Amino acid sequence: FPISKSKDEEAALKDRHQFISPLLSVSYKKPLSLSGSAFQYMYDTHGNTILDAYNNIPHVGHCHPKVVQAGQRQMAKLNTNTRYLYDLLPRYAEKLLGKFPKHLNRVFFVNSGSAASDLAIRIAAAYSGNRNVMVMEHGYHGNTQISIDISDYKFSNKKGQGQASNILKSSIPDLYRGKYQNPETAGWSYAQEAIAQLKGFEKPIGAFVSEPIVGCGGQVPLAPGYLKALYPAIRAQGGICISDEVQTGFGRVGEYFWGYEAQEVIPDMVILGKPMGNGHPIGAVITTQEVAEAFEKGVEFFSSFGGNPVSCAIGISVLEVIEEEGLQQNALEVGEFYKKALNELKNDFSCIGDVRGSGLFLGVELVKPDSNDPDTALASLVKNELRNQNILISTDGPYDNVLKTKPPLCFSKSNADQVFDAITTILQKVEFHS
Ligand code: PMP
Repeated sequence: FPISKSKDEEAALKDRHQFISPLLSVSYKKPLSLSGSAFQYMYDTHGNTILDAYNNIPHVGHCHPKVVQAGQRQMAKLNTNTRYLYDLLPRYAEKLLGKFPKHLNRVFFVNSGSAASDLAIRIAAAYSGNRNVMVMEHGYHGNTQISIDISDYKFSNKKGQGQASNILKSSIPDLYRGKYQNPETAGWSYAQEAIAQLKGFEKPIGAFVSEPIVGCGGQVPLAPGYLKALYPAIRAQGGICISDEVQTGFGRVGEYFWGYEAQEVIPDMVILGKPMGNGHPIGAVITTQEVAEAFEKGVEFFSSFGGNPVSCAIGISVLEVIEEEGLQQNALEVGEFYKKALNELKNDFSCIGDVRGSGLFLGVELVKPDSNDPDTALASLVKNELRNQNILISTDGPYDNVLKTKPPLCFSKSNADQVFDAITTILQKVEFHS
């Protein structure tokens, strides 16, 4: 599997690092140099068409014409901040809140998932009267200080800041690698452990935050019943239950519009970002009037760009496209087809440890066949070789051995077949050479 950077790519990297910190890493051993994109395809500067089986931000498709037009038109008409009246703001708020149960009736608009996570924790602290937060092992919620404080993925990194004293971490309820593996009972068992931790913590908890499928954990869906068993214990302490739907929201998981619905719970607060603006930076916190009112007793909240007319026009168009093109249903149908195909790989390759996730939010865990130990090198090889075949996926998880696929929701069954065929060929080659 020869992988080498071209002279152009070497030069482009050098150019980039003249001014941009290398902390901002570039994907792939052979980086991608892009010139355009449309729906589930991207185009590189060499004229290749690339199948995007990875990027979930262009939720309804890269450069979707309806979304682009909504942004262009509004940009040419009016763009200002939320201190003035314009009907797009309440219109968007109403349309977005229409996707939630009635009592989740307050929205705060910001510009990123990180800003939404930050604000969510501040609102929760105003309501509960404390800053203690229970977080999920391997969770990630953003790049602000508060977001990092609640992101095990960051604070537990070997270069990270460590766990702050106001943070309590619960074990990821992972059916594959975790200590409880019976899908009937594991969620409950993990929740009991988290509840015991809550009792052993000397302070009350003001908030519990988790993703319904933990992306940086390696696409790990919370074991069934976990949140249902845990949420009441958080609330009994006066705490707020927060679902981070930045990755899983807006129909991506197929069966549900929001990932938390699979757990048969309704959170008190929801964090939104990424897909909301299909690439335009929008984030939001959704909560109840009661919780919002506690926050409203404090200092004013203002965001220069949050909820601006262009963002609202784009946000509305994204919701309309999801509805008009039946994209949640497509995520369900294509997702099931895709997951079934990936599951079939298990029959032929003993390196496939687990295939998991819902809709178009899937993970394939690669392992060493004899021991089930994570096979990080193989995952990297598959990701890079797919890239050489013009298919984008990624790897993630604590061992970086989980292939992660979360394409734009217009992804088709033939796209899924293409990824499946490519992975099959790569694994056959690996077997042949080993
Ligand atoms: N929450 C989750 C679950 C995320 O995956 C991310 C981004 N990867 C964020 C929050 C932060 O969003 P942003 O990068 O837009 O600030």
